[in-house]
Amino acid sequence: MTDTDQTKSWRSATRQVRAGLERTAFGETSEALFMTSGFVYDSAEQAERAFTGEEDHYVYSRYANPTLSIFENRLAAVEGAKYCKGTASGMAAVFAALAAHLKTGDRVVAAKALFGACYHVIHAILPRWGIQAEFVDGTDLDAWAKALSTPAQAVFLETPSNPALSIIDLAAVSALAHKAGALVIVDNAFASTVLQHPLELGADVVTYSATKHIDGQGRSLGGAILSNNEEYLENTVAPFLRQTGPALSPYNAWILLKGLETIELRVQRQCDNALQIAQFLSTQDAIEEVIYPGLESHPQHHLAMKQMSGKGGTIIAFNVKGGKEGAFKIMNGLQIIDISNNLGDVKSLITHPATTTHQKMTPAEQLDAGIRSGTIRLSVGIEDVRDLIDDLSQAST
Ligand SMILES: *Cc1c(COP(=O)(O)O)cnc(C)c1O
Repeated sequence: MTDTDQTKSWRSATRQVRAGLERTAFGETSEALFMTSGFVYDSAEQAERAFTGEEDHYVYSRYANPTLSIFENRLAAVEGAKYCKGTASGMAAVFAALAAHLKTGDRVVAAKALFGACYHVIHAILPRWGIQAEFVDGTDLDAWAKALSTPAQAVFLETPSNPALSIIDLAAVSALAHKAGALVIVDNAFASTVLQHPLELGADVVTYSATKHIDGQGRSLGGAILSNNEEYLENTVAPFLRQTGPALSPYNAWILLKGLETIELRVQRQCDNALQIAQFLSTQDAIEEVIYPGLESHPQHHLAMKQMSGKGGTIIAFNVKGGKEGAFKIMNGLQIIDISNNLGDVKSLITHPATTTHQKMTPAEQLDAGIRSGTIRLSVGIEDVRDLIDDLSQAST
């Protein structure tokens, strides 16, 4: 349990800055960075007690570290989860969330539209260990119901999806999944903890790539797994992480902790900028289609508004005329927005998923994930939106 009675009464913006804070005897303002791999004991007896768990004492930073604990406690408080474990990257979180729970003979039902590496884990790695995977169109509740009419042990999905921003009804899919006996794991990287709390909508587990909005300034990799299910997180995932070793470095945990302090300000500004840019792109001749959950033209606009705190998110996808060539022309013409496959950053970043983040998928798999040759993904930053619109305008004409 990480929530203290005090942090429970705090509102989200206060938790982001203060939850989990544990000052040392020096009374430092900013959280201390414990850059240490191990810990020492007053006696051999104390070491023994630390290892049996009779005494609360850090033993090794692969297991736990004070800076990492502050990060985990703060993120848990912000997300409204009882338990949180930090990991070295978002993919370490996704992989551990699935692999710790599943065994040979189990079945996973997942949305088709996934981040390339998430898809690879479920489609190519887990089946090698006899874990069956079935993919469905995440926006089609009948398809979920059909796939979940046979028992399953896990459901995995992203909403909004990367990069095509399809929105999945978390409450409805969670209800179907629970009837089939499945644990619902939601990769919440795109919405971030500012816009969407899947556990409140029925999901059992949330994973983050903290590399994205939590750091938000392009400095560090990191990830996290959150849940209210003690048996799952404390007794299944935690030992898996301890023994397999995808530990988050204390230094990276400290950076991510600083990121959490400003996440709401950044994400709100990014969403405001993104809506204006999506509206602008919709008026451009070189652009065939703009996909942004905050636009009424988005097929799941109403669901997105309900599920994502009334905001459309920080990412826009759009299809340009002229396929790959047309997409490359616009990207190469940009002077402010950087070509980069990261997202959630204060700097606006643009990528061509078909040739980068989702390159390993076959053309058919790409289409299933909503990716065409002219699809561009834009992660909107916190720059002055007028400069971003000017940049896109000069590059697309
Ligand atoms: C980036 C990303 C990941 C992977 O996170 P890393 O920190 O790069 O390992 C997983 N899921 C989604 C949706 C992502 O965008």
